Amino acid sequence: MHVVMAAAEAIPFAKTGGLADVCGTLPLKLAEQGHACSLFIPAYKRALASGLPMIDTHVTFVVDMVGKPMAARILKTTIGNGLVDVYLVDQPLYFDRDQLYGDDRGDFRDNCERFCFFSRCVVEAIERLRLPVDIIHCHDWQAGLIPAYHKTNFRDFQWYRNAASVMTIHNLAYQGRYWQHDMGLTALEWQYFNWQQMEFFGDLNLLKTGIAFADIVTTVSPSYAMEIRTPAHGCGLDGSLRVRGNRIAGIVNGVDYDVWDPRNDIHLVQKYNIDNWQIGKRQCKRDLQRHVGLPERDHVPLIGLIGRLAGQKGWDLVKPLLEQLVETLDVQWVILGNGDQRFADALSELARRRPDRVAVRLEFSDPLAHKIEAASDMFLMPSLYEPCGLNQLYSLRYGTVPIVHATGGLIDTVCNLNDASLSAGTATGFSFQNYDLDSLKECVLRAVDTYSRESQVWDTLVRKGMAQDWSWLNSAIAYESVYRRAREMAAIDGRL
Ligand code: ADP
Repeated sequence: MHVVMAAAEAIPFAKTGGLADVCGTLPLKLAEQGHACSLFIPAYKRALASGLPMIDTHVTFVVDMVGKPMAARILKTTIGNGLVDVYLVDQPLYFDRDQLYGDDRGDFRDNCERFCFFSRCVVEAIERLRLPVDIIHCHDWQAGLIPAYHKTNFRDFQWYRNAASVMTIHNLAYQGRYWQHDMGLTALEWQYFNWQQMEFFGDLNLLKTGIAFADIVTTVSPSYAMEIRTPAHGCGLDGSLRVRGNRIAGIVNGVDYDVWDPRNDIHLVQKYNIDNWQIGKRQCKRDLQRHVGLPERDHVPLIGLIGRLAGQKGWDLVKPLLEQLVETLDVQWVILGNGDQRFADALSELARRRPDRVAVRLEFSDPLAHKIEAASDMFLMPSLYEPCGLNQLYSLRYGTVPIVHATGGLIDTVCNLNDASLSAGTATGFSFQNYDLDSLKECVLRAVDTYSRESQVWDTLVRKGMAQDWSWLNSAIAYESVYRRAREMAAIDGRL
């Protein structure tokens, strides 16, 4: 199949979260399976500085942005030794900025315009580059207009006509919601601005547009696919999702084990595997303790946390948890995150109070993220909600036992330790059901107690997690069948 993807970020060009990991890796894995894959992303400043050679395709055109003619230039590079073509939509006024979506003052005010432009350029560029397309796979709200273009304004484009569209939701909370007058930027007819397609409580909603128009909608875990169809987790779009019926699927993201595996991780002082994990993790623990200024102690439980400092990731609970435990529980905490200043200040204060127990790094550091994954005994991920989550998957491979809130992708990937799962040999971590401080605290204490007193059980947990395969291959195979189904759906709708 010819698969064309469109996304706002992808490694190694630009990353703010898991979306980039998925969009930079999935096309490669599909290509390895024999599909012809290409990817469109904006030509951000940092994407152009990625070090990969950029070729000018000489495809240029002008997009009318409500009376403002904006020129687009399509650049090209490749990833995976030429396996996947990457096209970058270049317009310096929109994309030559230090950040992707906003700065200290908040989101960029022209984000709607920037990503309407990007989406319109993707469909224009496909036609002008004469790219064959069987599947156009759109990620998140920034590409949400593309499934609509495919069925409306650009329906008769020659290179596009035989495609089916797939819309993947990486996080339903981010919808691209703008005031209705931005409808002009989309260049779509006002007839589509209705409650079933593009309109959302009087506003324009770009993710809803993608959900309404795509042949198939996917999200990044089966549990999250169920949850988002309920009012509790639907962020107002549960009704729009429910009407899509069986056209919704959940596929857990994969891990790129070329990058995230303690057997070959270039960031570790000591590589290790399932047979020598104790020796390897001990060395990595000492290295991390030195690196972040914690006392070098082998036997103190070390709990790692990595993630955006956003309410979604459970920092509201982590803060009071640490306030309660930091004086009484002999545990070291290493925290890496950036984002909301409110959480940053609270965490820094805890580190100041107990520098022997809490180390906080308020930055985005890939090498440090690897070191924390390897050095920690446990990884805490108490997300309020979690579409998929990657860090718990990395933790499993690194022998770092995850402690998670039972939500979304965390339900699908971490098996709570109890008598039944222990005797069935399926346990890989600890989870708690209710999102409240008492449940979290009980779960953390249960994990620390098991670590300290039941080394045999701990070894079982570690080995089970390390042996699991969450590689992209399984996810890529699942996407292949979604693509086939999308084409069947397009055929049923009479378009193919
Ligand atoms: P989300 O996409 O919601 O932020 P995921 O768990 O799906 O969460 O993916 C987050 C990715 O970003 C992981 O690869 C994680 O290691 C990485 N990450 C998040 N914050 C940081 C940070 N401060 N430093 C380094 N890596 C980070």
